[in-house]
Amino acid sequence: MALTQCVDCGKGLSPTATDCNNCNSKDPFGVRRGEQKAQITLVLLLLGMIALTYLAHHFGVLVI
Ligand SMILES: [Zn+2]
Repeated sequence: MALTQCVDCGKGLSPTATDCNNCNSKDPFGVRRGEQKAQITLVLLLLGMIALTYLAHHFGVLVI
């Protein structure tokens, strides 16, 4: 079976492994980290859109 590298130590692991038996990482493939990053990006994007809408409204560019 092809091995997937642990993102923390680079050791080859089974793709089905849930933790790394070399460095004890609980997220050896960075999956959860990627999800967190996507969520933060989404929240920032939403906040940015709200801020833009507010600014556009404030400066009279956008009239709702
Ligand atoms: Zn590791």
